Amino acid sequence: MVEWHDIVWFKKAVPRHLFLLWMAVQQKLTTQDKLHRFGIHGPNGCSLCLRHNEDHKHLFFECSYTKAIWWDVCDRCDIPRMIKGWDEWIRWATVSWHGKSFVNFSRKLSFAATVYHVWQERYARIFVGMSRTSNLVFNQIECIIRDKLDLMRNVVPTNENKRIQRAWRVNNINS
Ligand SMILES: [Zn+2]
Repeated sequence: MVEWHDIVWFKKAVPRHLFLLWMAVQQKLTTQDKLHRFGIHGPNGCSLCLRHNEDHKHLFFECSYTKAIWWDVCDRCDIPRMIKGWDEWIRWATVSWHGKSFVNFSRKLSFAATVYHVWQERYARIFVGMSRTSNLVFNQIECIIRDKLDLMRNVVPTNENKRIQRAWRVNNINS
């Protein structure tokens, strides 16, 4: 079993998010740098920030647009904003998010949702000609995470769990 298995496959997740994350962790998504290697030339540069060439690490972590979403997610999930890049993030998550605690579940869920929505936003900009601000994308992620966490019953009412529930504006908080 590969070491990142636990962050990519877990129960009560959103299946389409996990599939996309599984592709992303293996860097199998066809970002523009890969297309260029095959001689296929799409739009110039990153469609999210419009300032950088698009490759996997840029799109999913280094891009200013993506980073704005990541930092909001990190704040809600109690993740320090100290991680510098995609590889470091995967290594850190793999080591830190072991087990089935509520906190780890919320982090895995949010990670998968963020990667999925960044890829969706890229798709919408390139192929549909529609774009949204990072705030709007984050709001959509927030709705999904809140709905999922709201369904979690018997969450142990520790301070950390309650902090995460409040951060995601969960309605159903045990006192
Ligand atoms: Zn960018």
